[in-house]
Amino acid sequence: MKHHETLWNMPETKKLTAEEIGDEHLSTSDETPLREDAFEMDDALKIELIEKNFREIMHILGLDLTDDSLQGTPRRVAKMYVQEIFSGLNPANKPKVALFENKYQYNQMLVEKDITVFSNCEHHFVPIYGKAHVAYISNGHVIGLSKINRIVQYFAKRPQVQERLTKQIANELKRVLQTEDVAIVIDARHMCVSTRGVEDSQSSTVTAEYSGQFLNPETRKEFLAYLNLSAD
Ligand SMILES: [Zn+2]
Repeated sequence: MKHHETLWNMPETKKLTAEEIGDEHLSTSDETPLREDAFEMDDALKIELIEKNFREIMHILGLDLTDDSLQGTPRRVAKMYVQEIFSGLNPANKPKVALFENKYQYNQMLVEKDITVFSNCEHHFVPIYGKAHVAYISNGHVIGLSKINRIVQYFAKRPQVQERLTKQIANELKRVLQTEDVAIVIDARHMCVSTRGVEDSQSSTVTAEYSGQFLNPETRKEFLAYLNLSAD
C-alpha cells in the first residue's frame, strides 16, 4: 500500500492563520463578510454588550474604570461603534436615493471631488482617512450631489479594506444611476501604516475603479485631469 504517497498527495487545504497573514491587508471579497444573523439583535442590545466587553478590555489593560475620566468610555465607544462609525453595516441605514430626469440633457462627465472618507481598517480597527473622487456620465438620470457623499459615507462606516470600499461605492453608484459609466478614486492614509508597523507617516494608498466609458483611456484621462492626477 502506497500510504506515504497518499499523504504526500494530500491537497493543500490548510487556511492561513492570522499570524501567517501578519500585516498583509488581504481582502477576501467585494462583500463585507457579515453573518446571516447580523441584525437579529437590535442596536440597544448591541450597545449594551459592546459596552460590557469594552469595559473588560480596558480592565485587562489595567485601567481604573472608577476614574471619572474613564468610567463613561465603554458606553461611549459602544454607542459610537453601533450608531456612528460602523452604522454602515446595517442595510437599514443605506441612503435612499431618488433618481431625477436629466432635464438639461447634460450628458457630459459629472465629477464630485474631495469627498471626505473616514473609515476604519478591518484588520486593526484604527482609522483610514482621506478623499474620494467620483465621476459618472448620465444615461438620462441624475442624483442629488449630496447623495454621492452619503453613499461614500455609508460604505465607509464599516470595518473596511480600501479596495473593497472602492468597489462597494462603485457598485452602488452603478446600481442607483443605472449605468456602467462610473469612476472612483480613493486616496487615503491608514493609521495602521502611519503609526505602527512600518511607521510611514507620509504614505497614502490610492485605489481606483473604472467601468463603462471610463475604461476608454481618453475618458479616464479627462476624469484624472479634473483631479490634477496624471493618467500615466
Ligand atoms: Zn490595518
